[in-house]
Amino acid sequence: MTLMLKTNRFLLISVLVGLVVVSSLLLLYRSMTTRALIEQEERANTNISYILANMILPRVENLLDQTESLDKIDFELVDRLVYQAVMNTSVTKVKIMNRSGMVLYSSDPFQVGESRYTNESFHSAIGGVPASSLSVRERFKAIHSELRDRHIIATHIPIRSENSQRINGVFEIYSDVTHLFRTSMLIQLQIGIAVALCLLLIYLVLFKMARRADSVVNAQNAERLAAAERERYQAYHDQLTGLPNRISFVERLDEALNRARREDFMVGVMYLDIDRFKMINDSFGHDEGDELLRLATRRLSHVIRESDLLFRMGGDEFTVIVERGFLPGDVAHLAQRILQAMREPIEIKGHFFMVTVSIGMSIYPKDHASVEQLVKNAEAAMYRSKQKGRNQYCFYTPEMNTQASERLVMESALQQAIGNDEFVLHYQPRVDSQTSDIVGAEALLRWDRPEHGMILPGEFIPILEDRELIVDVGEWVLRTAARQVREWLDMGLDPKRVSVNVSSRQFRKRNFINLVKSAIEEAGIPAGYIELELTESLLLDNSSHAIEAMRSLKSLGIKLSIDDFGTGYSSLNYLKLLPIDYLKIDRSFISDITSNARDVAIVNTITTLAEELGIEVVAEGVETRGQWEFLRGKYCQELQGYFFSRPVEASEIAQLLHRPRLASGQ
Ligand code: C2E
Ligand code: MG
Ligand code: MG
Repeated sequence: MTLMLKTNRFLLISVLVGLVVVSSLLLLYRSMTTRALIEQEERANTNISYILANMILPRVENLLDQTESLDKIDFELVDRLVYQAVMNTSVTKVKIMNRSGMVLYSSDPFQVGESRYTNESFHSAIGGVPASSLSVRERFKAIHSELRDRHIIATHIPIRSENSQRINGVFEIYSDVTHLFRTSMLIQLQIGIAVALCLLLIYLVLFKMARRADSVVNAQNAERLAAAERERYQAYHDQLTGLPNRISFVERLDEALNRARREDFMVGVMYLDIDRFKMINDSFGHDEGDELLRLATRRLSHVIRESDLLFRMGGDEFTVIVERGFLPGDVAHLAQRILQAMREPIEIKGHFFMVTVSIGMSIYPKDHASVEQLVKNAEAAMYRSKQKGRNQYCFYTPEMNTQASERLVMESALQQAIGNDEFVLHYQPRVDSQTSDIVGAEALLRWDRPEHGMILPGEFIPILEDRELIVDVGEWVLRTAARQVREWLDMGLDPKRVSVNVSSRQFRKRNFINLVKSAIEEAGIPAGYIELELTESLLLDNSSHAIEAMRSLKSLGIKLSIDDFGTGYSSLNYLKLLPIDYLKIDRSFISDITSNARDVAIVNTITTLAEELGIEVVAEGVETRGQWEFLRGKYCQELQGYFFSRPVEASEIAQLLHRPRLASGQ
């Protein structure tokens, strides 16, 4: 029951009780005033009766002794005396009775001779006690007139003889109290109305107060409920994207698994991670990072079906529970749709971001029956997708857990790799697009891991990046490449330019420029032999600082290029600001260049812009003659790819440099 209802009930009861009390008080008051009126009139009537007795009895001898022969009474005289006595009083009628109740005189002559012996008031009076009664008369025969609708008080008064206390007769005096009675009634009515109004007023005030209190309490209740609801919502939802969070995920997956157990169907768990999100967040700032997460969430929400549930697990990680449909086929389709939806660049504050996701999936009951393990397995599969080059999906396989523990082993092995001298540099020639002459080489890191053989950077660079080891390894690469140039020069060969890949973490270090300087000086080579391959993300990280650093490097005579161009995050306009010499078009645009119109358009845009800006273009990943021929017709000065040479050991480069023209065959 609401407070208002309770209050109303209470008020209603109090008002009813109030009304009963007031009515009883009014009734009491009424009977008291009536009694007082009767008593007052009785006194007045008694006085009048004494006056009458004094006036009449001495003049009408033996009046009260009359028993039968009333003829002897001088009615006219009595009438006159009565009239004189009651003139200007409220007395309207007078009767005189002897001890036996016979009416000896009445101002209404028709009553003379009647017997009042059985009358109660008469009996009381004859017993010595005056008695009065109030009655309402429609018609009343008064002295010399007839009255209508009157309140009459009739008083029986004992009359005693002068010298003895014996009661000789009874006077009955009628007085008209209509006016008094009505006045008293009017006063009662007014008091009643006043009290009722007061009660009503009090009720209204109380009602108003109760309503106000009720609305305050209701508002407080509503606020409390809303706060509780908010708290619940916050506990189960992610603030940034509004998606249900990890807690919701665990609960919902548990429910889904219970249903699946009962009804014997499968459940798919998908684990998504935005590729390189940390870099975007670090480079562009948290506001942009947040916006990116929101926009990515919106895309994901559009792609998933109504029956699929999307969650944000934290950071850049999302999960989807797929409960309906044909599994595992439907999860794979969903993963494809997600990868597809992410292909369009996301625009934030004028920057276009190519956002990709890596997806891992596990299926109940095939991959496990518990919530924790299904998630772990999906996550392991997601890591596998990352390892395989990101922007793809993987189903969980039991080997993945072994791979995860292998990663841990690899991490500790990598920590010792520098000290153990396990890293090697291979070099991939870069050739002139027109003449096929070698114009330089890219230094590419390899890890000659004991008992594992040569490991490619894709497998271990992400771990080096994660563990910050990349800074030390990067320094080793730079110094080694510079020393290699020295070695070739000492052999009388001209390597022209050796490019070294620089990770953003390395570039961000304060002493990076000094490191480059010291590497060149230590090797004793002109700075122009070294080119640094930077990534787009690094350029936009605290851009003014980055541009400053690039200028300093350029002033040393170092060449600068942007690696993997087109896959990153910069808007093309940004290029105008950068003091760079080369753009290296990512090989993903080159691989289908002879068949994919979209790739042709991208390459055309990049080359046109580079030409305008006077920046040279290098195409990576040239594998076929067709690609080569296509590219040499464009504004593209250098080519690099398996078509000309795979990355090879330094000694092989020395041989190649003896006959510097590559390709035209292979
Ligand atoms: P990247 O800088 O874009 O290097 C080019 C990659 O493309 C090399 O892979 C090279 O072997 C490969 N490649 C060249 N031509 C072709 C081709 O025709 N077809 C195909 N399919 N691939 C081709 P690699 O050596 O596995 O290096 C992978 C990535 O690892 C590099 O990409 C670079 O980003 C990174 N990396 C390599 N060495 C270093 C290093 O010393 N420091 C840092 N920070 N990153 C490095
Ligand atoms: Mg490179
Ligand atoms: Mg590249």
